Amino acid sequence: MSELTELYQEILLDHYRRPRNFGPLEDADREIDGHNPLCGDRVTLRLRLAGDRVEEARFEGSGCAISTASASMMTEAVKGKSVAEAVELGERFRSRLTGGQRSDADDDLGDLLALDGVRGFPMRVKCATLAWHALREALSGSVKPVSTE
Ligand code: ZN
Repeated sequence: MSELTELYQEILLDHYRRPRNFGPLEDADREIDGHNPLCGDRVTLRLRLAGDRVEEARFEGSGCAISTASASMMTEAVKGKSVAEAVELGERFRSRLTGGQRSDADDDLGDLLALDGVRGFPMRVKCATLAWHALREALSGSVKPVSTE
């Protein structure tokens, strides 16, 4: 295992064991449930918006290490961003995991790069992108539950 892989493994496990922004959110403007039936991951994402900005993002649910860590990282990454920036980040993250494009411009993904390990494992990609599907739908104003299937 390379040093980088080990580092990523540690970041991932840290977010799994101590998920950031985990718990209910008072005064949420958006709430959406996500489900990944293949793995059994469930996430409820809640957002509070201030104008065009994501002021607060929190989640609850239960799932595997990858889905939990990804939701934790996602809430950290989008907090403070504009809705457009958050949507753009989600698109970039998903295409990085599924489309095979990687660029230096992605360096700003920070901890999210720790999820690179799921590339090439479609089942795991669903775990990693579940919270992001929920984010996209929540930001679009939808209240329908999302599924990775
Ligand atoms: Zn999973």
